[in-house]
This record gives sequence, structure tokens and C-alpha cells, in this order.
Amino acid sequence: MRIVELFSSKQGEGLWTGTESVFVRVGGCPLRCRFCDTPYASRDLVEGEDLAVEEIVGRVLLSSRRHVVITGGEPMIYAEIIPLTEQLETLGHVITVETAGILELPVRCHLMSISPKLSNSTPVGKPEVLVRRHELNRNRPEIVQKLIKTYPYQLKFVIDTPHDIEEMEAYLSQFAGILPERVLLMPQGVTPQEMLDREAWITSYCLQKGYVYCPRMQIIWYGNQRGT
Ligand code: SF4
Repeated sequence: MRIVELFSSKQGEGLWTGTESVFVRVGGCPLRCRFCDTPYASRDLVEGEDLAVEEIVGRVLLSSRRHVVITGGEPMIYAEIIPLTEQLETLGHVITVETAGILELPVRCHLMSISPKLSNSTPVGKPEVLVRRHELNRNRPEIVQKLIKTYPYQLKFVIDTPHDIEEMEAYLSQFAGILPERVLLMPQGVTPQEMLDREAWITSYCLQKGYVYCPRMQIIWYGNQRGT
């Protein structure tokens, strides 16, 4: 499978923020989100190297981290993620899979981190073929339903404007029994200031509803850099 980068860092987003982890970032994603913070991993396999599962496991072992975050790009486009997660679990690793919830495979996973894409992700201004592909693929509630039934989960939404909160609520109303403490609202932004600009009204809404405010801490800790 195509690996764009493999590095050790702290998890910067979500319920396991601050956890020392090794990150395996795959290349390739059917979506082209307007705000994608890893564009080098979402284009059509232009970066990285093709590695066998055994090679990836070997490099993870060198990191000496117990937590492994398989991210992208979109990890669920690779069938190899099945043996990869099986081998990592057998070795005692704790596995997070970060996905847009547009595809699913029977992986081993201790935290399924699902980031459904709202209409604010549409890559306005990009070639029409990319916009159409994005819109055809981004909304797959039946896949998200299966993932949240099968795995411990968190649902992360990128929030840019107050309108996005209304759309998120309409989206969530399709599912029964979503735990509010598993719903994470992430301010849109690739700089600390952009996130700060949205912090007050998003945190206020989270307090009302029991949701979790979820800034991208890696941007605050390291800036918007690769390998973090
Ligand atoms: S789903 Fe994730 S990796 Fe793919 S384009 Fe959107 S933000 Fe980027």
C-alpha cells in the first residue's frame, strides 16, 4: 500500500489527544475536500512509496510506540489494511483508524475515528470532474452507521460557520443512540488564529449539547507541518 509518511508524534485530535503514537499515513483519497490539511496525501498517489504490510509493521516496531494511528488520505481504500491491523493487534498495539466514513473494511481497530464530510467540504473552484466525484462519494450514512455499530468510535465534524452546525444536527438525526461525548466539533483552520476565530461560539454550543470541542492541537504545538 502507498505510504506517504510514517512518523512518531503525539495525537493532536480527538479523544486520545496527547497520546504518544506512531502515524502511518497512506496516500490516496477519493475526496478533494476544500479544507484538506494533508493535500499531499489526497491526490492520486503522487507521493510516497509502496510498502508491503511486513515492512510497515517493521517500521512501526522501530518507533517503540504502542498506539498506532492509521490515517491518510483514506485508509479504507486499501485491502492491505486488514492484515496490517491484524498483525498490529497481535503484537499488542492499540489501533486508531482515521476515515471519512465513505468505505469500510473488516479491520481491527480500538478507536474508529470517523470524519463525515459536510457540504462545506465541496472543493468549489476545482475541476468539475473532481467536484462531481467528491459530491458523489462524500455522504455515505449507511457506512457510518455500520462503523459506529461495529467499533468504539468518535465522530469528528469540521465546523466553519454556524450553518455547519445546523447541517451536522440534520446529519446526526439519521442515527439512533449517538453518544454526545463521542461527537467532536473541530474548528476549520490551518493556523491557530483561524481556529481561535471560531472557538467561542463552537465551545458554547458544545457546552449546551455535551459535545466535545476539538481543536487540531498539532497545529498549535508544531504549526501546520508534515510529520506531526
Ligand atoms: S477525506 Fe480527508 S484526506 Fe481526503 S480530501 Fe478530505 S480531508 Fe483530505
